[in-house]
Amino acid sequence: MPSEISVLLRVQELDQRIGELTSEIDNLPRHVASIKARLAAHRQALERTQAILAENGKEQRHLESQVGDHKQKIAKLQDQMNGAKTNEQFRAFQHEIQFCKDAIDQFEERILENMEQAETLQTNVSKAVADLEVEEAKVARDVKVASARIETDKQERTQKQLDRKAAVAQVSPSTMQAYERIRRVRGTAVAPVIDESCGACHVRVRPKVLQDLRRLTDRIFTCESCGLIVYLPGTLDDGVQIEDPAGDMAPTRGA
Ligand SMILES: [Zn+2]
Repeated sequence: MPSEISVLLRVQELDQRIGELTSEIDNLPRHVASIKARLAAHRQALERTQAILAENGKEQRHLESQVGDHKQKIAKLQDQMNGAKTNEQFRAFQHEIQFCKDAIDQFEERILENMEQAETLQTNVSKAVADLEVEEAKVARDVKVASARIETDKQERTQKQLDRKAAVAQVSPSTMQAYERIRRVRGTAVAPVIDESCGACHVRVRPKVLQDLRRLTDRIFTCESCGLIVYLPGTLDDGVQIEDPAGDMAPTRGA
């Protein structure tokens, strides 16, 4: 039959693990959200490049329509020039036609520049699309891993809670109440005595208490300084027979 302290240590170990699992389970949704947020930057980069490309296309159509308008204007001016009555009128039309031709040259130059720019932009869009696809696959994988983790954590927690219930049944309700109360206040409830000092607060344990700890191994003692339940590691009856007459495995015994 294991001593109450051995059982409490087991309960404490289970409580620590249950606590770890619970905080991991609680944090995983936030973790998943942060994984998904990685996509936002990639989507924004793609949208920006697509917007610039669309702007480029709009500019291109505008320039092309300008070229068309000026060509029509030239045709009209040429008709009018043919009907010119004076040399001055003829030269004025000629001058205006030349002005339109110069404008067309400028538009066409910009059209060429725009086309080159569009090529670069198209390359950027393709790259952004490919990057996004790669990241989406990575994110899907990471989300899957995180979701699977939640499931295994939940299963482990359920098992640990069952183990805890079985362990708790082995100690008296009053001991369990003391454990719960100390744990609630201090975060942990049981500490070993190491080199004659409390393993939690490191305050020296009085010789009389040390003697009682060695002698009355079936009783529960608390540290007079921090209030944690204390035990001598070498004196535990954890249900397993350990032959240790020389005290080799219990450095605190007789030290
Ligand atoms: Zn203490």
